[in-house]
Amino acid sequence: MKILSGPTFISILYLIYLITIPRVSSSSPSLTVPHHFLQCLDTQPADHGSPNSATAVIPTNSSFSANLMSAVRNLRFASASNRKPEAIVAAVTETHIRATISCCKLLNLELRVRSGGHDYEGFSYTSPVPFVILDMYNFHKIDINMADETVWVQAGASLGELYYNIASKSKVHAFPAGVCPKVGAGGHFSGGGFGNLMRKYGLSIDHIVDAQIMDANGKVYRDRRSMGEDVFWALRGGGGGSYGVILAWKIKLVRVPEKVTVFKLERTVREGAVDLVHKWQQVAPVIDRDLFIRLEIKPINRKISKGKTIKVSFIGMFLGTPERLLNITKNKFPELHLTSSDCLVKKWIDSVVFWANYPEKAPIEILLKRISANEYYWKRTSDFVQTPISKQGLKTIFQTMIDHSPLPRRVWMQWNPWGGRMGEIPSDATAFVHRGGNLFMIEHFMNWYRPGDKLEEKFLAIARSFKEAMAPYVSKNPREAFFNYRDVDIGITTPGYNATYEGAKVYGEKYFKGNYLRLVKTKARFDRTNFFRSQQGIPVLA
Ligand SMILES: Cc1cc2nc3c(=O)[nH]c(=O)nc-3n(C[C@H](O)[C@H](O)[C@H](O)COP(=O)(O)OP(=O)(O)OC[C@H]3O[C@@H](n4cnc5c(N)ncnc54)[C@H](O)[C@@H]3O)c2cc1C
Repeated sequence: MKILSGPTFISILYLIYLITIPRVSSSSPSLTVPHHFLQCLDTQPADHGSPNSATAVIPTNSSFSANLMSAVRNLRFASASNRKPEAIVAAVTETHIRATISCCKLLNLELRVRSGGHDYEGFSYTSPVPFVILDMYNFHKIDINMADETVWVQAGASLGELYYNIASKSKVHAFPAGVCPKVGAGGHFSGGGFGNLMRKYGLSIDHIVDAQIMDANGKVYRDRRSMGEDVFWALRGGGGGSYGVILAWKIKLVRVPEKVTVFKLERTVREGAVDLVHKWQQVAPVIDRDLFIRLEIKPINRKISKGKTIKVSFIGMFLGTPERLLNITKNKFPELHLTSSDCLVKKWIDSVVFWANYPEKAPIEILLKRISANEYYWKRTSDFVQTPISKQGLKTIFQTMIDHSPLPRRVWMQWNPWGGRMGEIPSDATAFVHRGGNLFMIEHFMNWYRPGDKLEEKFLAIARSFKEAMAPYVSKNPREAFFNYRDVDIGITTPGYNATYEGAKVYGEKYFKGNYLRLVKTKARFDRTNFFRSQQGIPVLA
């Protein structure tokens, strides 16, 4: 028999020790667990000459806070009342990810995977139970193959990095995804990914042709064939965090003209906003699919007389020239009075800068910026509208917005038109279910800029009350919700996450409707032990 000695022997002794120490279950942060976790990492197989623990920081490290905050997009989840991770692993190689998974299992810690950190409820960097963050920040390689117009993009890459890299290779290629450049490919694509090319091309997931994922046993599936079509289906719209660690996506680029046209028009109620929004509902979801017109509806103080009113911004993206655009709007939406002086002609990559609200002359390198110093506190949620809202309904909504807005703080909304390509893709083609039959999706916003429990309570109550008031105008049975706009108010599982199919239906049906059952069956096959879990995970029990 071979006698074990040296590091291998010590590793095995340490593993036995880990298995026999009490597992983490207390709700208070532990002093010892982070150290056990680091030691555990170094008992796992490592890359030559680089200990796994070198990629991790724990709360006693001076850089811990900076690491944690580097991708916290909503300051609500940075407050002291939120549990902090036992460790953050900034994986550089698959070995580090595998070691992290193993040690989370051994120490009974939950794993939260973070790519861009934009989760609306902070699920990628908070948890009600002891946990570790696996930060995918370093997995941001982008490999473009112009010969077949495909790209392998690693999960930690931001949309801005992706767009910038595409533009560096071609003036006539793009990718349909979100308008915020800091959003991560890991979470964004797995929830669907919509942006201003959606009426022409659909969602990001409609152009994902392959993926790579690591499962709870550390096994890597290098393509859709090896992971199985059910998993590949689930990853496209079923959300990140329930099946495994997504390592990379293979996407197919789409074509755009060398120059596109963008515009932004503003109209107050006095300038006819009610009539315009009423008409927009009939026009925007059926108009030429090269045209996407988003609405932003905001309460403001009146400029001249006292009191509040509503201002509506019409923000447009057109895949063509201003002449063709004006021809379309003159015919289909003359009330908008769009003129050539409202139109800006830009390269597609410059239109990305415009849509991200960066200054007009900002260089495209700004899209590579991943850390922001201006984060604040917010609650955002979604709704889907399937029947046009009457003029009287719009007036009531506008007044309700005003009543809910202690200016300068306010509730406000973005309305994004569906239709075009979105209506042609069957609702079970991917796990993203909200396709034909929807006129537009609403995003509800409530932002505030100072900390404090009382303030948070106040603004959350306002946001919830306004959402309640919107119930008569939006989808029902279920009131549908967009997974990428995660909202714990629609329901969560109880602590312990032993959610049943029935229990998790409370959110599962709102996010996924008829696709929910298939997601559960896929989960039961691929992540049977429910290692990848959260308060809104897909349950394993069918
Ligand atoms: C400012 C802002 C603008 C936005 N704009 C848009 C938009 O235009 N269109 C749109 O569709 N959405 C938009 N979103 C929503 C965004 O798409 C989702 O919040 C998305 O989940 C963010 O992905 P992320 O990787 O940045 O977030 P993260 O917080 O890192 O992850 C989100 C979820 O996915 C999981 N996850 C992340 N990476 C992985 C991985 N590699 N493997 C497995 N699971 C993973 C996380 O655990 C978490 O549950 C926006 C969000 C914000 C805050």
